Amino acid sequence: MPNTAAQGARFDLLVENVAIVTFGEAIARDMAVGICNGAIAAIGPAIELRKSLADRRIDGRGGMLMPGFVNTHNHSPLMIVRGMVEDIGFAPAYTKGVPQGHWLSDEETLALSRLGLLEMVRFGCTSIVDYYRKPLALAKAATEAGVRAFLGGRVMDVDTAALAEGRFQPDVALGKETLADNLTLIDDWDGANGGLIRCFYAPHAPDTVSRDLFKLIATMAEKDGRQVHTHLAQSRMEIAHMKAREGMRSSDFLDDLGLLNERLVAAHCIFLEEDEVNKLGNSGIQVAHAPIGNAAFGAAAPIAALAAAGANITLCTDTKSGDMFETMRMALASARLRAKETFVFDAHTVFGWATVSGAQALGVADQVGRVAVGYRADMVLLDSSAPNLHPVVDGFGVVAHLGSGANVRTVICDGKVLIDDGRATWADQDEIIATAQTVADRLWKRARAA
Ligand SMILES: [Zn+2]
Repeated sequence: MPNTAAQGARFDLLVENVAIVTFGEAIARDMAVGICNGAIAAIGPAIELRKSLADRRIDGRGGMLMPGFVNTHNHSPLMIVRGMVEDIGFAPAYTKGVPQGHWLSDEETLALSRLGLLEMVRFGCTSIVDYYRKPLALAKAATEAGVRAFLGGRVMDVDTAALAEGRFQPDVALGKETLADNLTLIDDWDGANGGLIRCFYAPHAPDTVSRDLFKLIATMAEKDGRQVHTHLAQSRMEIAHMKAREGMRSSDFLDDLGLLNERLVAAHCIFLEEDEVNKLGNSGIQVAHAPIGNAAFGAAAPIAALAAAGANITLCTDTKSGDMFETMRMALASARLRAKETFVFDAHTVFGWATVSGAQALGVADQVGRVAVGYRADMVLLDSSAPNLHPVVDGFGVVAHLGSGANVRTVICDGKVLIDDGRATWADQDEIIATAQTVADRLWKRARAA
């Protein structure tokens, strides 16, 4: 990181007395970071920058300061099934007996999204990908929080009630409605909140979107250059359905539609044959790796092979615990289990996946993912007194192998303090939790009665 000891400068915010951990650099101790207009304006020895003027100072007390996590795949309203679906199904939309997305009203979607975002930000995520039905509620929740959000409206045209029972039944009206919601989101929200909100196309998955609808989205994305986020090779059920419906595998289907390129962000990528891995890697797609959700149903994606073939690997919590520290750890564990007792990857690599690679995937690698001068001030300060974060040697080892979302003390996004000493600054977090609980109680009662 460039050392810019801007003595005599004036900062909006000065974070002092920190050890900076950022991908590609050795840990730098006793440092300070000065922020102006939402960007990192100076990084230098605390002893020098301390002399500068600042509207606000935060004493890091020797704790580690790192870039905010880039969490590349979530559906925040799915908070509703958390802690329950993990024991019975690979994804809520395909699982019977749990509350379904199409039951949620706008208000309920908003209440759950608020809880999802609160948790992710509280645990150090400053760039969050989120897509689901009723995407305007997601945009509202993200804007309230002030987080950097990449949003889509989940588009699908199979009947959702039938899908939950494992049947694929076309629903043309649903396709029209969800596509219209995605397009309204793009029209009304792309670039909102000072550019913190960005919008993309989100066809749900090859098996839940018909060829005609997927083709229409691919054509629109080709025309306007927007990203396409989807699920790929998430289940054996999907693979079997695509062979029956299209006579081809999911990746071949996306290839057929012209979607295999660097603007595709594909979540999961589990059930792939060797030639598919090579094709996906060569095409430079972005993989949103969800190792915790995958492991919960006994699966591990071929991440080492995808990375070796050229895919960009990023990490996501996929509306599981929201804790990217756990995700880094599980990414290492699942890769090593697949590699059969081999030390594939290391702490530094997964830290890069959780920060710079995610930023690259979302097209913002020149703005976020690092603590460096000129970058947006998206940073996380860890608790200096946490026993699990000591001793610190290179920083990456202790963060990736032992860190926890609960260690996050302060979160800054675009220069604004969103979490101040463990508490959200934009809302009453107790109220967010209580409202989401009321919604959950109501919808679970309905699920149990069904
Ligand atoms: Zn998903």
